[in-house]
Amino acid sequence: MEVKDFRHHLHSHPELSFEERLTSQFISEQLSEMGIEFRPIAGTGILARIEGRRGNAERCVVLRAEMDALPIEEMTGAEFSSQNKGVMHACGHDCHSAMLYGVLKRLQMERDFEGTLLAVFQPAEERMPGGASLVMEENPFSKYNVAAVIGQHTDPELEAGEIGFCPGKFMASADEMRFTISDTESVDSPRKRTKSAVVAMSDLIMRLNTLNSDVCSLSVGSVQTQIDGEEEVESAIFSVKMSAFGEKLRQRVKDMIANIVEEIEYKYDVEVECSLQTGYPCVENNVQLTYEAMLLSESLGFKTVDLDMRMTTDDFGYYSLSYPALFYRLGVGRAAGKLHTATYLPDDKILAAGEEFMYRLALNVLNK
Ligand SMILES: [Zn+2]
Ligand SMILES: [Zn+2]
Repeated sequence: MEVKDFRHHLHSHPELSFEERLTSQFISEQLSEMGIEFRPIAGTGILARIEGRRGNAERCVVLRAEMDALPIEEMTGAEFSSQNKGVMHACGHDCHSAMLYGVLKRLQMERDFEGTLLAVFQPAEERMPGGASLVMEENPFSKYNVAAVIGQHTDPELEAGEIGFCPGKFMASADEMRFTISDTESVDSPRKRTKSAVVAMSDLIMRLNTLNSDVCSLSVGSVQTQIDGEEEVESAIFSVKMSAFGEKLRQRVKDMIANIVEEIEYKYDVEVECSLQTGYPCVENNVQLTYEAMLLSESLGFKTVDLDMRMTTDDFGYYSLSYPALFYRLGVGRAAGKLHTATYLPDDKILAAGEEFMYRLALNVLNK
C-alpha cells in the first residue's frame, strides 16, 4: 500500500485514545502483508521488529508514531474526511503513523543495516496517563541496548519540509493540582471570623504566583467557594496547572509548594488539601543525538531550524526519561491550519519528506 493511501485510511477512520481497535487491526494487516514481525503492546498499540542483516542484533533503534485521534468534528472538506462523527485526526497522528509505515516498508525490503529496528505504533498520546507510560510499563526494550528512541511531530509553524530541532530540554512536564482550603473546626479564634479560607486561598495563590519563571509556569484555573447553611464560606477550592522544564526542577517546585502550603495552614488556621494529578514528563532530547540529526538533516538538503523550548507537552517524555531520545518537528506550513482544530490538514506532499528523513536518521544511528 502507498503511504498516502495508508494515511487516508487512518484519517477517514479516526479513533479516540485507548479505543484504537480498528486502527490497530488495519496497521497489523499492512505489516503482515509486508511480512514484518509484530506483537500487540499497551492494549491497542503495536510493536514491530525488523532485524538487520549485518548482525549486532541486540543494539536497537526505536521509532515511535502515535495512533489516536481527537474528539473534534472535522471541517477540512477533504475527500478522505473522517467517517466517524465527532472524531478527527487533528494532531497529525495519521501522518506520523503513515510515515513510520513508509520507513518500515523500505527497511523490510532492504534489511541492509546493523542491529534491530523496533517500531512502536503507540495508542493514546492525547489522554492521561498516556500510551507511552503503558508501553514503558511493559519494559519491551529490556533485552536491547537502545541507541535511540526517535519520534517526529508535524508542525504548521514551520514551512513545509523544514525540520526543527531543540537539543536538550524541549517540552515541559504537565501536572495538575487541586487545592481545597477549609477552616479548622476546633479553633474558635477571632481570625476565623475573617473567613480565613478565602483569605488563605488568596495568599496561597499569590505565593504560588511567585514561583513562575522562564522554566516553570503555574497557572490558576477555576476558583470557587463552598457555602454552608448559614451562608458562611466552608471551603475555598482552586486548581493549578503546572509546567516545568526538567524533572529535577519539577520535583523541586513541588517541594516548594508543599512548604508554602504548610506555612499557609499555620498562618491562617486552615487545612489545605492538595490532590495531584501527575501528567507527562518533560521531553528532553539527547544533545549528541540531536546535533548528529541536525547535521544529517542539513546534509540531506532539508532546511534545518533551531527550535525554542515549548510549554506544550507530549507523552514522548516517558521514553526520554529512560533512553537517549530525539523528538523533532516536521514543518507542514501554515496552510495546514492549526493543531487540534477542525481544519488541521497537512498536505500529502510532506509525507515523503518525513519518511525520507526518519529512514535516513534510523540508518544513520543503526550503522554507526
Ligand atoms: Zn495533540
Ligand atoms: Zn500530537
